[in-house]
Amino acid sequence: MQNKSIAQLAADLRLRTYSSVELTKHYLERIERLDPRLNSYVTVAADSALAAAERADQMLKAGDAGPLTGIPIAHKDIFCTQGIKTSCGSRMLDNFVAPYDATVVEKLAAAGAVVLGKTNMDEFAMGSSNETSFYGPVKNPWDETKVPGGSSGGSAAAVAARLCAVATGTDTGGSIRQPAALCGITGIKPTYGRCSRWGMIAFASSLDQAGVMARSAADAAFILDEMAGFDSRDSTSADVPVPDYVDALDNDIKGLRIGLPKEYFGEGLDARVGAAIQDAIKEYERLGAEIVEISLPNSPLSVPVYYVVAPAECSSNLARFDGVRYGHRCENPEDLEDLYKRSRAEGFGAEVQRRIMIGAYVLSAGYYDAYYLKAQKIRHLIADDFKRAFEQVDVIMGPTSPTTAFPIGDKMDDPVSMYLNDIYTIATNLAGLPGMSIPVEPVDGMPVGLQIIGNYFDEARLLNVAHQYQHATHWHQAAPTGFE
Ligand code: GLN
Repeated sequence: MQNKSIAQLAADLRLRTYSSVELTKHYLERIERLDPRLNSYVTVAADSALAAAERADQMLKAGDAGPLTGIPIAHKDIFCTQGIKTSCGSRMLDNFVAPYDATVVEKLAAAGAVVLGKTNMDEFAMGSSNETSFYGPVKNPWDETKVPGGSSGGSAAAVAARLCAVATGTDTGGSIRQPAALCGITGIKPTYGRCSRWGMIAFASSLDQAGVMARSAADAAFILDEMAGFDSRDSTSADVPVPDYVDALDNDIKGLRIGLPKEYFGEGLDARVGAAIQDAIKEYERLGAEIVEISLPNSPLSVPVYYVVAPAECSSNLARFDGVRYGHRCENPEDLEDLYKRSRAEGFGAEVQRRIMIGAYVLSAGYYDAYYLKAQKIRHLIADDFKRAFEQVDVIMGPTSPTTAFPIGDKMDDPVSMYLNDIYTIATNLAGLPGMSIPVEPVDGMPVGLQIIGNYFDEARLLNVAHQYQHATHWHQAAPTGFE
């Protein structure tokens, strides 16, 4: 059952080959048996999942089921869920149960999806390896000594090991695409504003975007169909019509113009990862696409720009965790200042504290112009590079990550080398563009992701382009061994 696509599961549920309760129990049994090895879930919500599955079975019986009715999913633990703990991977929120559902959670619930639980993540979505979580690292199902990527590493590992049919993720600088690449699954970060951020715990508000982690582009299309759309409760949500993503999957891609940025194939890229990406591009040529060499000259600046902008926004967003209203509160504070200081020092881990300090520094009087303002200007130049590129091409392709998954512990003492993992993903967030990662031929048994970047609100094309590759190849069907 766990290897079936969303379309197959939906068809089986309609035919009553099995019920949603049976399907949900199947996944809950797999989580109980296999997740102790991976640590991909922070919370398993068995009771509420079974209750939702029963409601879904009733809808199926009554004949008013949609494609997601009764399908077991998982949410990254950054989305507020009423009645289920939302930790954001942090000790700060270890005791937090939200009084409401995030819009994305609400929409998927309204579509009849069954929430199995909340997935592990880097603390407040800061990280590229899922090692900064208060709940401990997540293991990569392809090699349990390696990281799954981050920050949506729990969602990626859970989808790869078939511990849910599909999961949500968020991407501020690569957190959907990079773990999707490292775990051999399909991830899509939509255009900034495409999915509501309401109820999604904020890291860097001008970059954060919700998206999907799935086993195929087709599965992702079913979820995005339900998740996307305007939300009046999120002032940056885009009031742009949502096309039918499933409908677009089968469009012909003959004549598709693919841009290959020369900056994405240079120094720092593992040669074997580069070769796997080139092979995938050849497959696209066989499918009728045209290859155009392009340049994104400012993209090498994206990591330094991001590590000014994202910490600046995070230092402001995380100011709300003060030990007063909710979240961790220190014992016996002497006075208000002691309450703030100790609650925050105890509640936040090292990486979050580093980012808050960097952010406060770049926003402070005297440094604002030199760092923050300068970074915002370069951010515009990075977006302009893409604008020029999309005058010539329909999509841009390259590697998602410079290497395959690295060993747990390898980069924890070297933040800069950790930050460089997102060298190919960050520019799209700075520009607000949609991006995807799909699995191609592995290197030494470890997954490799091809990144596909699209123009604003061109998610339908991204999913179509990804689906055509997955139609012609089988890499996305590979499953890690030992998770049967
Ligand atoms: N790895 C990047 C960071 O540490 C991106 C994280 C994300 O996209 N949430 O900030």
